[in-house]
Amino acid sequence: MHPMLPKEIELQESTLAFLNTGPKKLLINGGWVNALDDGNFPDINPATGEVLVEVALAGPEDVDRAVHAARAAFEMGLWNQMSGEMRADLLWKLADLIDQHADELSELETLDNGKPIRVARRGDLPYASKHFRYYAGWASKIEGTTIPISIPNQFVYTLREPVGVVGLIIPWNFPLLMAAWKLAPALAAGNTAILKPAEETPLTALRLGELILEAGFPDGVVNILTGPGVPTGAAITAHMGVNKVAFTGSTEVGRKVMQAAAQSNLKKVSLELGGKSPNVIFADADISRAIKGATWAIFSTAGQECVAGSRLFIERPVYEQVLEGLSNEASRIRVGNGFTPKVHIGPIISETQLQRVMGYIESGREMDLQLVSGGQRLGGELANGYFLAPTIFAHQNDEIPLVQEEIFGPVVAATAFDSYEELVQRANGTRYGLAAGIWTQNLSKAHRLAHALKAGTVWVNGYGMFDPAAPFGGYKESGFGREMGKDAIDLYTQVKTVWIGL
Ligand code: NAP
Ligand code: MG
Repeated sequence: MHPMLPKEIELQESTLAFLNTGPKKLLINGGWVNALDDGNFPDINPATGEVLVEVALAGPEDVDRAVHAARAAFEMGLWNQMSGEMRADLLWKLADLIDQHADELSELETLDNGKPIRVARRGDLPYASKHFRYYAGWASKIEGTTIPISIPNQFVYTLREPVGVVGLIIPWNFPLLMAAWKLAPALAAGNTAILKPAEETPLTALRLGELILEAGFPDGVVNILTGPGVPTGAAITAHMGVNKVAFTGSTEVGRKVMQAAAQSNLKKVSLELGGKSPNVIFADADISRAIKGATWAIFSTAGQECVAGSRLFIERPVYEQVLEGLSNEASRIRVGNGFTPKVHIGPIISETQLQRVMGYIESGREMDLQLVSGGQRLGGELANGYFLAPTIFAHQNDEIPLVQEEIFGPVVAATAFDSYEELVQRANGTRYGLAAGIWTQNLSKAHRLAHALKAGTVWVNGYGMFDPAAPFGGYKESGFGREMGKDAIDLYTQVKTVWIGL
């Protein structure tokens, strides 16, 4: 038993062993080390508010150590000059190790992030290992082109080379999966990496680090630094020895990442940022399917998903029907500790985040929006955690913060629309452009709207699907650069053009 866990939770021996060997250390140059100033921070369980384990807090000097290790590994060719086939073998081995330790990694994810253990085990874990396997396939298939040019007696070709040392900064909503999204293509392309997990959820990244060593990756190829955005993340983005930063997180911090890059060495930047995604239900949709889809589009992961379908547009003739259906679905959602059987969604990640979300709910109340369901923090045995009821507001005003800003919680703003033209304008009417959903049985309308929406991903008659082969990223202030698919290989490589005089 871990002293900080409720008695009824029986964790794997290996999970307990991992938690009981704290404070957790930093992975630098193939070994586990304390922060140079011996600093630690507490890692909290969001379902109970209790400390799970102390974790090393990497300061700027630790970042510097990690960058030097990654640089040395890169320049010595330990990784990028290894054959693609050998890199593939190691990535594949890592995927196998993730699968072998899936139960334990799921438990760590649930303890750290709060998500239901079933969701972690069936969703996050297999997706993470699948991601490494997909990019293992790419490692031996990265190639340049030969280019016909107008000048005689010149032969021109391109090489696609790794960028160098990459800093990977990720959020807390899908901790292991986000690490996989970034590490897999970065490593397949031959870069060496420094991964910074979110302060709230460092555990699965650290366990992944142990598996990376077990798989036999050369020292310094992957370094893992735990700590907050400032100083740890900021030191990575400002470091002169980092060639690229791939960041997933809020639009606000994304701006800081770009600024730091601009003010240091103009390191390359790719940003996966926030969203306020429209989800559109037409009157000709399969309504019961659309209601279920719209429910999970917003409430899965307690709304803490960048692609959350947080603005629901319902065509007028089915408005009342959909709103009622949505409210019924929401009332059936079981919110609770991720280890409690049959729970659908867990807590909000932290007290701070809970207060932010509550602030938006209060603003809705103050503006007299119709509160269709939810709106309150959950008490009773959940009182110590950060649990919120799935919340539905109905509104007619697109210009209020609750409709314009990313809430990152289980709050949906539903509204009626009358015409296609009105819908297009309103659906595109935020500064974000990450994703969108369309529910209709009219395929030509679906295609037409999919083309008209300013979003990086559009799902028709579905929502929130991902595959390692399908590119993902934002329009507008939701960021730039595409992860997944071949696009992510482009993101982590640079093109060299070679001219040969014949
Ligand atoms: P966040 O505050 O922006 O943090 C993201 C990461 O950046 C964390 O590791 C954070 O560290 C770090 N960070 C914070 N300040 C930094 C700084 N000045 N310099 C460098 N790094 C810094 O985002 P969050 O609140 O954790 O996550 C929620 C946001 O992520 C939402 O906006 C959501 O839409 C977005 N998101 C986007 C996607 C996507 O693919 N587009 C996916 C998931 C989430 P600490 O947290 O440890 O302080
Ligand atoms: Mg944060």
